Amino acid sequence: MSPLVQPVLRQLGLWQTFLAQGFAPSHRTLTSWDQAGLTSSELLLEARGPSWRVDRRAFDGWLTAAGCRAAECVDAKVCHLAREADGWSIVCDDGNSHSARLIIDATGRARALADRQGSRAKAQDRLIAAYAEATTSGPAAPELLVEAFDDGWWYTMALDQGRRAFACMTDADLARGLGLNTPDGWRAALARTQFVSALGSRIIRLEQPRLIPAGSRYAATTAGFHFLCAGDAASAFDPISGHGVVKAMRSGVFAAYAACDCLARGDAAALDRYGAWIAREAAAYATTLSEHYGSVSRWSERPFWRRRRADAPSRNPSSSLLEQ
Ligand SMILES: Cc1cc2nc3c(=O)[nH]c(=O)nc-3n(C[C@H](O)[C@H](O)[C@H](O)COP(=O)(O)OP(=O)(O)OC[C@H]3O[C@@H](n4cnc5c(N)ncnc54)[C@H](O)[C@@H]3O)c2cc1C
Repeated sequence: MSPLVQPVLRQLGLWQTFLAQGFAPSHRTLTSWDQAGLTSSELLLEARGPSWRVDRRAFDGWLTAAGCRAAECVDAKVCHLAREADGWSIVCDDGNSHSARLIIDATGRARALADRQGSRAKAQDRLIAAYAEATTSGPAAPELLVEAFDDGWWYTMALDQGRRAFACMTDADLARGLGLNTPDGWRAALARTQFVSALGSRIIRLEQPRLIPAGSRYAATTAGFHFLCAGDAASAFDPISGHGVVKAMRSGVFAAYAACDCLARGDAAALDRYGAWIAREAAAYATTLSEHYGSVSRWSERPFWRRRRADAPSRNPSSSLLEQ
């Protein structure tokens, strides 16, 4: 998680308890991107603090428990939503019904509630992750390692107990051609990297690679009648940004402010202001993303890079999403 998690957790009053969870700080990222060598981004002297290596299941569980202490929690899936005169009625898969004055869809890329209102998110690319976890031998090598290759890029990072995550990021059509959902196709793509494959050579046992949608998406309508989207439901960022979780939490905070202004103060424009903020954030992200991909010229004729360079309005090699 990006260093920017710190101000968000401080605002929520959760920073000290986050530190007490024992998640590992990460002071260095290794990258091979626009040049063949490896560069190191040091976060040791970074004023915003380190980035964090978190077990996502443990982090989500901790955050959910903190949320449940501040609000009533219903552990069920929303399966039906209907608009009423002054709010919404909700049916959950446990058979219970609820009413709400305002809905915030925070169901991630599923957009389980917003899509039912007929507001679809627009896919900006077809990025997909071929993700696999492995048991490895040798020292842990705790830094996040990101390496571009001719059909996309890879990342790898250490998990607990000798386990390591590897992901090959490419476009969905290219992933099919490469057979990335099979161990053989996945290993063949791994062999085309220089630095990630060095860590891959330590794999003792590989799990079946899984394909996970990871492209950029943005919904033009993130706010409607007593309805908001937050997190990936509002806009989903490419994982190269390293900002998905923090962005989701921050938009949750702002969505709560907008909901409060709308319901408690009768501020009719609050939800539209929130929607405009999401739109500005998505526009700034799109510019930085295309600059970041546009800085890679090593494989400009390969489809993955050609598609992204075609999108790049300006090519600023010093711009790095990973460093923001
Ligand atoms: C390959 C990959 C790597 C990534 N790496 C990073 C990274 O290193 N750092 C980072 O910050 N971000 C990363 N991200 C992005 C990050 O995972 C997302 O941006 C983040 O999880 C979005 O949070 P969210 O709460 O909006 O959605 P989610 O985390 O998807 O949560 C949505 C929740 O809604 C629930 N839900 C769904 N449908 C319903 C329903 N009908 N009723 C009730 N609940 C429902 C789900 O069960 C889930 O709990 C990565 C993404 C990908 C694909």
